[in-house]
Amino acid sequence: IHGHVGFSNLPNQIRRKSVKDGFQLTVMVVGESGLGKSTMINTLFDSPIYAPREPLHPAADRPKTIAIESTQAVIEENGVRLRLTVVDTPGFGDFVNNAPSCNPILENIEQRFDAYLSQEHRVRRANLVDTRIHACIYFIQPTGHALKQIDIEFMRHLHHRVNLIPVIAKADTMNDDEIADFKERILSDLEFNGIQIFQAPMYEDDDEESLAEADEIARAIPFAVVGATQRVRTRDGRKVRGRAYPWGVVEVDNPAHCDFGKLRQMLVRTNLEDLREYTNEVLFERWRTEKLLAMGY
Ligand code: GDP
Ligand code: MG
Repeated sequence: IHGHVGFSNLPNQIRRKSVKDGFQLTVMVVGESGLGKSTMINTLFDSPIYAPREPLHPAADRPKTIAIESTQAVIEENGVRLRLTVVDTPGFGDFVNNAPSCNPILENIEQRFDAYLSQEHRVRRANLVDTRIHACIYFIQPTGHALKQIDIEFMRHLHHRVNLIPVIAKADTMNDDEIADFKERILSDLEFNGIQIFQAPMYEDDDEESLAEADEIARAIPFAVVGATQRVRTRDGRKVRGRAYPWGVVEVDNPAHCDFGKLRQMLVRTNLEDLREYTNEVLFERWRTEKLLAMGY
């Protein structure tokens, strides 16, 4: 089972089976209000590399997110179809009760575990519908300073239940040096506070190219992302997704400008199976064990 990276690289036999069963991934976006979470979802679904099969609502003016809501689309890459569900959440400030201990996001993640658990009792394993959250993209404000206390609190509550993938929001507001420094600072803050983020496993039997790719992605965490669905024209006349500034255009899909492409690649290719596996074998198993213990087994 180990050795492959991403659904487009699977051996044909597994791939055929998976296509029949349908590849499926559920991602949640979390973070303070106004950091670009909803825009990022639109950017993911609007990616020119894989066209959504089902047209989505016009992305332009998404209203402020006030409830946890999910959007689904079937995307295709290298002839393999992936059912991608993204769960959007309101910013912390928008909750009625703002205490991290009363956390509707954590509640939502755990409800999904419960739903899976009760399904397991009822139906044959092969028919299970997996609505569990496989990855949680956590948006950090591009302050350039330390992690905020509220982010530390939220991530502390989430990291035992979900694969955390921290990202620096609106990276177009920082320059390269600031981003590099901020990334280091975030990683050391996370470590200091004992917060575990998703660790991509490295498979030694992978070919060199896949290993290099996986390594490059892992090194870029926390990804510095820029979200935009509007097309703008660059100085050299290309039409790209990006954000225009007096001094030039920050391109969403240009790896020299931001890490959006790496984040996307991690989710839908390189670590798709790893995220699903860790969710099932570690996070969900932990939940199941705690449930059983609480019930007195
Ligand atoms: P949410 O509250 O986290 O869902 O944030 P929204 O996606 O609603 O975005 C809030 C505002 O930030 C909107 O005006 C967006 O156009 C803007 N925005 C979103 N992503 C970016 C980004 O990457 N860079 C910049 N500069 N602005 C962004
Ligand atoms: Mg929103």
